[in-house]
Formats: sequence, structure tokens, C-alpha cells
Amino acid sequence: MVQSLRTHSGNGVPFSVEFNPPRDEAGEARLWRAVREFERLHPAFVSMTYGAGGSTRDRTVRITGELAQETTLLPVAHLTAVGHSIAELRSLIGSYADSGICNVLVLRGDPPGDPLGEWAKHPGGVEYAEELVRIVRDLGDFHVGVASFPQGHHRSPDLDHDTRHLAAKLRAGAEYSITQMFFDVEHYLRLRDRVIAMDPIEGAKPIIPELMPITSLRTVARAEELSGRPVPADVVARLTRAAGTGPEEDRAAVRAEGIQIATEMAQRLTDEGAPCLHFITLNFAKATSEVLTNLGYGVSAAPLSA
Ligand code: FAD
Repeated sequence: MVQSLRTHSGNGVPFSVEFNPPRDEAGEARLWRAVREFERLHPAFVSMTYGAGGSTRDRTVRITGELAQETTLLPVAHLTAVGHSIAELRSLIGSYADSGICNVLVLRGDPPGDPLGEWAKHPGGVEYAEELVRIVRDLGDFHVGVASFPQGHHRSPDLDHDTRHLAAKLRAGAEYSITQMFFDVEHYLRLRDRVIAMDPIEGAKPIIPELMPITSLRTVARAEELSGRPVPADVVARLTRAAGTGPEEDRAAVRAEGIQIATEMAQRLTDEGAPCLHFITLNFAKATSEVLTNLGYGVSAAPLSA
């Protein structure tokens, strides 16, 4: 995966996109439309999140395999420790390997139902992502990434603790990290500084910033739910101003402002040397491709689905 970042030959820095397992057939059709649209834009990789329930998990594994076998994209499979014994985790990794997947984003995951609830390790499972990084690396020739948190993980008592355990995951064999979504580039830059200061060798590994273009006021709530952090007041103020004072939200203006905010962040991250821009897509291609067009990426003029 890291190799694919280095060999990227497009304009600017490479970009990558994140998909979620669809809930039903209509959702799956929409996902595949987005997949085909992104195929034309040549992302460095595409990642597929891993849900909490059995059926979405099965779908994640199946669709990630299909991405490997039926598209030109490089899939990265998210894998979480939630509710799995080590034997089950090994078997899942084996199924990924059987489908030709060798890139895994290793995560602990959150307690099902309430992400902020008490974490309970599976009796035969792992306590922290670091252990799972070692398991995956020991199983074969996998390229492993991990999660990083620009404002610190919500369970970390302080940023020093947070940085120490991120460095430990990298030392255990992870080659890069992808951050939690954020809306203040300073938080990303300070994370990068912290890891380099704590461990210059691990700090040199790519920290890939995660961005989500906001397309409606409702997406602000979704962003807060996904990141567990409030969207900064200045960002909310820009979106609210765009929404106008009428009885209905001016959706087109909010969307345009959200795309503009994501473009400004992506440009600053590029200028600051981010190794790749990772976009949360919610299985739509259009908003991300608009940001890429604004950044000057050679995006085809063919219309994209919403
Ligand atoms: P860990 O690295 O295990 O850290 C968890 C907490 O424990 C942190 O506070 C850490 O500092 C602390 N810690 C770590 N090691 C130790 C130790 N040895 N001693 C004491 N404390 C320690 N969730 C999903 O369910 N599915 C997904 O697909 C998914 N994708 C994600 C993608 C990205 C890019 C990100 C940023 C998050 C994603 N998540 C996903 C959410 C993630 O699973 C949660 O944020 C989870 O709470 C933390 O996972 P982790 O791998 O960072 O955990």
C-alpha cells in the first residue's frame, strides 16, 4: 500500500476513499456506482469499514473480496477486534488473503451499540489494536495500517498517552496510520509533530489525514457522530450562514460551502506535505470528486451520481 502511495503518478498528492458496507441491495448498487466512478479517478487505495453486526461484517468481507477481484482498485480491509476471538480473527484474515487482499487497517473497534460505552475484550480476543497488528503481521505478508487521532482518542487520558500507544502500534509493524476525521488542520499538524518528537523513526511513517466533505447541515451531526468530536464553531458558522435565514435550509449553498471547506483543508494539507488525502465518501463519489476537481486533479467531466 505504501508502495502504491510512492508510485502514484497523478496530479498532486495521492488520494484514497473510504466505503461502508451497504445495508441492502439498493445500497449495494449505489456503492458499486461509486466504485466505478472512483475507478476512473485512480485513487491510491480504497478502504472498506468493518461493522459491528454479523450481516454487515459478512458483506464487508464479500465486497472487499469483490473489489480485489473485479476492479482495478487496491482494497484495504478494515478489521476490528470487537466480539472476535483470536482464532476468528485469524480465520478472517485467512479469508482476506484467499481473496487476494494483503492490506489491512487494524483497529480495536468500539463497544457495539454505544461507542462510548465500557470496552469489554472478547474472552479469547485482544485488548488493544497493537496486539492485533502483531497477529496480522505474523500471519503473512500483510501491509498493516492503524488509526490515529489528531485530538487524541476519546479513551486516552492525555495526548502523551495517546501518542505513546500510537507509536507502539507503528513499532509493532504498522506501516502507516489513517487519522480520525477532523476539521482543523492544526490538529493534524500537531499530531504529526507529537509522533516525530516521541519517536523519530515511527514518526516518519505516513500519517494519512481523513476528510469528509460536508454536504448538508445534517452531515454535520453525522460528522460529529463518526468522529466523536464537535465540528469547530467557525466551520459550523460558515455552513449555517450558507444555509440562510429562510424557513428551509439553502441546501445548494450549504453543499457548496462544505465542498469549499474540504477543498481549503485539502489544499493546506497538501502544502504541509500530507502523504495522501483520505476521503470518507458515505458511498457517494460526487462530493469527493468535486473537491479533487477544485484541487486541479484531472477528473473526467462525465456526470457523477449524487
Ligand atoms: P487502540 O489502538 O487499541 O486504542 C484504544 C485506546 O486504548 C486508546 O485510548 C489508546 O491510547 C489506548 N491504548 C492502546 N494501547 C494501550 C495499552 N497498551 N495500554 C493502555 N492503553 C492503551 N471502527 C469500526 O468499528 N470499524 C471500522 O471500520 C473503523 N474504521 C476506522 C478507521 C479510522 C481511520 C479510524 C480513525 C477509526 C476507525 N474506527 C472503526 C473506530 C475505532 O475502532 C475506534 O476509534 C476505537 O475506539 C479505537 O480503535 P484503535 O484501533 O485506535 O484502538
